[in-house]
Amino acid sequence: MGRDAYSKRHTVQECRSISTKHLNKNHFLNGTENKGVMNWNNNGIQFGSIGFEIFTFEDDGYIRFQYTHTDSNGKKIELDYVAILTTTPCFFGGHRWWFICPLITNEQPCRKRVGVLYLDKDQYFGCRHCLNLTYKSCKEHDKHVDKLCKEPELLSLYFQSNDLSKLMLAIKAQRKLLKGKNKLL
Ligand SMILES: [Zn+2]
Repeated sequence: MGRDAYSKRHTVQECRSISTKHLNKNHFLNGTENKGVMNWNNNGIQFGSIGFEIFTFEDDGYIRFQYTHTDSNGKKIELDYVAILTTTPCFFGGHRWWFICPLITNEQPCRKRVGVLYLDKDQYFGCRHCLNLTYKSCKEHDKHVDKLCKEPELLSLYFQSNDLSKLMLAIKAQRKLLKGKNKLL
């Protein structure tokens, strides 16, 4: 992987994504069956839309994606596949929902537990590792990260945020805190 390959990687902000937080917030995860549509907008202009169906049981389930993918030759492909939904218990009770990445890369099923699946330019939803995405890393974020390291309450708020950039700042801050810890060991 040379420098060119790296620069061609898409950033997650450019991608179409679906999160368990969004599904939970919109009450898709507390029934036994739910149909919905995911729309993506950029400055009020819709640039994507897919339909899905969700089946949940006590603490697991699955999401079925149904949409038409147009390949680079303009050929339309009807897609219909599922991603497993699973949960982990929360510290203060209840549980948190996750997707299991449905992609197979290098002949190995990924099965990573993730909160967000991305569509990118590829035809299937997958985790950011499988889709080789990178986050926009901005130096101007560093000050923000320092602030989060000093304010655990703000940090936990950022971790619960639906805003991906806030979540990334929280992850960066946590990494920084853990690094500091390791130095002490
Ligand atoms: Zn994956």
